[in-house]
Amino acid sequence: MIERHLAIDSAVSLPKNELDAVLSDLRQHGYQTVGPRLKDEGLVYAGIETLDDLPRGVISEQAAGTFRLVQAGQERYFDIIPGGQSWKQFLFPPRVTLFTARKNGHWRIESDGEPAPRYALIGVRACELAAIEIQDRAFMRADYCDPIYSARHRNLFIVAVNCLQPAGTCFCVSMGTGPRAERGYDLCLTELDDVFLVEIGSELGRSLLAKRSFEPASAFLQNAANQGLEQAAQQMGRRLDTSDLPDLLTKNLEAERWEQVGKRCLSCANCTLVCPTCFCWDTTDHTDLLGKITRRERVWDSCFNPSYSYVAGGNTRQAIRSRYRQWLTHKLGTWKEQYGTPGCVGCGRCITWCPAGIDLTEEIAALREEVKA
Ligand code: SF4
Ligand code: SF4
Repeated sequence: MIERHLAIDSAVSLPKNELDAVLSDLRQHGYQTVGPRLKDEGLVYAGIETLDDLPRGVISEQAAGTFRLVQAGQERYFDIIPGGQSWKQFLFPPRVTLFTARKNGHWRIESDGEPAPRYALIGVRACELAAIEIQDRAFMRADYCDPIYSARHRNLFIVAVNCLQPAGTCFCVSMGTGPRAERGYDLCLTELDDVFLVEIGSELGRSLLAKRSFEPASAFLQNAANQGLEQAAQQMGRRLDTSDLPDLLTKNLEAERWEQVGKRCLSCANCTLVCPTCFCWDTTDHTDLLGKITRRERVWDSCFNPSYSYVAGGNTRQAIRSRYRQWLTHKLGTWKEQYGTPGCVGCGRCITWCPAGIDLTEEIAALREEVKA
């Protein structure tokens, strides 16, 4: 063991099988280890125990409306770019009980009372770290801190992975969020053919790694990782010109392009559900038949749902065109004013998982062309 190389922000070379021991240590510290897994010909984030649970050698081919798993031949564990699920489900669950009310003479309110789970997220991409940071700004504001989100966030351990094989719908370089993970992790892996180059981001990450058998990160390995990341940056499947955003959106609300995209969009809400930064929610009440127990839940909502924009007097966004325009104008325009950053990290999920093949990078380019004409 070479203690002198174990400062926070330093990097070491770790034999791949040593990561199994890190996962095991994390579970001993009370964490549920969660990572990418193949399921039903798709990719999900679910419990993992060892490297064998990861989709080794598999990559995903992604295009507008298309996601396909391909056995790529190489032996790496983390080459696959994620599917429709994002990590937001672990911090901001799709459905969560806020409280239960029971009537026994008087009404009594019971809070959920469950302690927040402790998740160790394994394989978090740079864009996904940026997405968590964006959701933090919405859920952990100085004037209101969401108790469910913040308790789960406090319990997180994050193993990030630098992207060496971007998918056809990725554009993190345009959004300045990848492919290299810069911050917000406990450990960060760059997977080379024989070893992981591991960067240390926190004290807990450092202490877990200190027990493992590692070598100093040689200049050769660091160069290999840097070259891989430079290549990945050049291989982005998409690009988005952000130079004139948000003005392009907020000053062209009556453009013809909104009409065109409104005819193709199904208002299915897929894009918002897969988006790692979308945070809209609704509350629903569930009462038993005797009227003695009522459970209030928080559930994900979407600006594409007609009921989302129903206010006294009717629906303020009846046309699909208006809902798509609201989504994109918020995501790439007014979000900046609200949170100091765009609401998009360039992960490409909304493009891949749109059943109509609508691609926001194309929509922005077409809007820009129309306005220029
Ligand atoms: S843009 Fe695509 S994914 Fe989003 S609501 Fe419309 S059809 Fe569904
Ligand atoms: S808007 Fe689309 S590309 Fe941007 S973060 Fe959301 S899902 Fe990813």
